[in-house]
Amino acid sequence: MKKGKKLYEGKAKIIYATSDKNYVIQYFKDDATAFNNQKKSVIDGKGVLNNRISEHILKNLSQIGIKNHLVKRLNMREQLIKFVDILPIEFIVRNIATGSLTKRLGIVEGTVLNDPLIEYCLKNDELGDPLISREHIYAFNWAKKNEIEKINKQLLRINDFLIGLFRGVGIKLVDFKVEFGKVRNSSRNEIILADEISPDTCRLWDAKSEKRLDKDRFRKDLGNLIQAYKEVASRLGILYEESNIREVNFKKAKAIKLKKNK
Ligand code: 5GP
Repeated sequence: MKKGKKLYEGKAKIIYATSDKNYVIQYFKDDATAFNNQKKSVIDGKGVLNNRISEHILKNLSQIGIKNHLVKRLNMREQLIKFVDILPIEFIVRNIATGSLTKRLGIVEGTVLNDPLIEYCLKNDELGDPLISREHIYAFNWAKKNEIEKINKQLLRINDFLIGLFRGVGIKLVDFKVEFGKVRNSSRNEIILADEISPDTCRLWDAKSEKRLDKDRFRKDLGNLIQAYKEVASRLGILYEESNIREVNFKKAKAIKLKKNK
């Protein structure tokens, strides 16, 4: 399938058209942003790691029946995905209180929630992705009641599965954000999991030390973000090192070639 023109550029990813209108290519950038774009940086290698980690998680979710947009990873930074129209809602699932929940409601940081808590935010950077209720979603037709009910069931299954996956490698799944989209040209109006699941979109704490292994390292200036993402990848058994070496070697070879041609 041939890569076409750029369709959309977001904060961490770029979407390209392909020769088939039902599929697009998702490119993972190294850009990191936080606090509604107020804090920005480029972190070498982040896109490569998120591509691999998200591929691993979405493949595993497919195997337990959670349909998602991933078709296949194409290379270090790109995935072939189904073209979906993303619902304008960020779905957040929390197991332990931290982040905006503690700030908004004064809940003590680290409080373990009795049951997973689902929250909805409107996907709107200008408004700072505000928290919304289900009633807002229905009132403004951002999604239908039966769609949200189906998505909620999937969110709880995804949460159960991810808790187990990460617990097996000594990591606590604190919370995560996912998005869903309507499959283009689907006669059944199918809604599937889309976007990415990675340390950019989850909070992951080491089970013993509670060391942050996610984007909070960037948000809170804790440093060593790449080391933390690599730690997640290597605990999940993703052979990242090997492919990273290949990319570094490729860059070196390209630099030598350019020098020679000068
Ligand atoms: P909070 O609402 O506490 O800031 O975030 C809750 C969870 O959702 C965290 O895992 C956080 O990483 C994720 N999350 C919320 N909004 C966004 C967003 O706009 N971008 C990304 N990458 N993750 C988000």
